[in-house]
Amino acid sequence: MPTEFIPLCEPHLAGNEWPYVKECLDTGWVSSVGSYVNRFEATVAEYVGMQHAVATVNGTAALHIALLVCGVQPGDEVLVSTVTFIASGNAVRYCGAWPVFVDCDSAYWQMDVAKVAEFLETRCDFQHGEVINRSSGRRVSAVMAVDILGHPMDMDALLEVARRFNLKVVEDATESLGARYKGGRVGSRALVSCFSFNGNKVITTGGGGMLLTDDEELARQARHLTTQAKSSREEYIHDQVGYNYRLTNLQAAVGCAQLEQLESFIAKKVAIARSYQEHLALPGLTWQLQAPWASSIYWLFTIVVDEAAFGMSARQLRDRLTALNIQSRCIWEPLHRSAAFPDSEVLGGEVADRLYDTALSLPSSVGLSEPQQARVIDAIIKQCR
Ligand SMILES: *Cc1c(COP(=O)(O)O)cnc(C)c1O
Repeated sequence: MPTEFIPLCEPHLAGNEWPYVKECLDTGWVSSVGSYVNRFEATVAEYVGMQHAVATVNGTAALHIALLVCGVQPGDEVLVSTVTFIASGNAVRYCGAWPVFVDCDSAYWQMDVAKVAEFLETRCDFQHGEVINRSSGRRVSAVMAVDILGHPMDMDALLEVARRFNLKVVEDATESLGARYKGGRVGSRALVSCFSFNGNKVITTGGGGMLLTDDEELARQARHLTTQAKSSREEYIHDQVGYNYRLTNLQAAVGCAQLEQLESFIAKKVAIARSYQEHLALPGLTWQLQAPWASSIYWLFTIVVDEAAFGMSARQLRDRLTALNIQSRCIWEPLHRSAAFPDSEVLGGEVADRLYDTALSLPSSVGLSEPQQARVIDAIIKQCR
């Protein structure tokens, strides 16, 4: 009997997307200027708790611009989580800088700040307000920490270390819009934070991103760089090499409609996670934990499969689920192992390597129905009988 395919994470477009997009088409405001772009920026800024927002074509572009406005120079080094999507590392290379990867902790899977502190204290020199990595001779100018899989990283701990060493902090919050950290929203404490509105993120604009900051001057620079560095209103005069990174009004219209549904999307993601936790308490299965200071949006609910205790590996379980028409996904190859970053330095890496072998993300779409989730749970339980 053919069974219905259950995807890992698909968009949910159930609100005002259609009327808002229609308005753009009816009025001709389809491109990179328009009221929806401004409204989308203002609404996200207010929601997250940052003063300024600059919408971009995608999250990767937002990260690239964030590093540029933080003053990251070619030949610099940037500390980056190694357990993340490749875009975090790519953005560093777009600036001509080099990533130094940082392992994560084993409970919440976020950047291990103790490793960052140890590296800065014991393996770098701090001279004239600059950090120099003794082994490479390069300047370390920024830290990019990622809020992985919907869960916040420990930003206060990182900010304390970064302050001591005069490092700029960029938060890759692309996976965690709406998550809470010590009462505030994720993305509200770093110097610059970035979000993505790709199709699989908690809200989508098809493709899109945003950069947020409380610093008016950095926001001005970011807006300038994302719009080809045009320096005259009337004429085509540009004062530096800029980028065509601005989000279109059409996409922002979808974003405004999606934002109206964000709280219900998060509630659904949390309910999905609770149900997995309730039903998957099986020998050999654990999952990404939630810190006492955090409230996760559970973007992708991710289990850890202990092969010996469960009776099969994460990849074997994935293949069984695939055969049952259920999509699941191993997490990213740690960036320190990626062919994209040969010979990169990594601080630790053992936790990341272990997660790569054992972690598996389960279907977590906002539209996942109870019978669909029951099918996923039954399929997993049957594998270990
Ligand atoms: C999705 C994602 C990005 C990039 O977002 P795009 O909009 O796809 O460019 C960056 N970092 C992380 C951690 C992501 O998950």
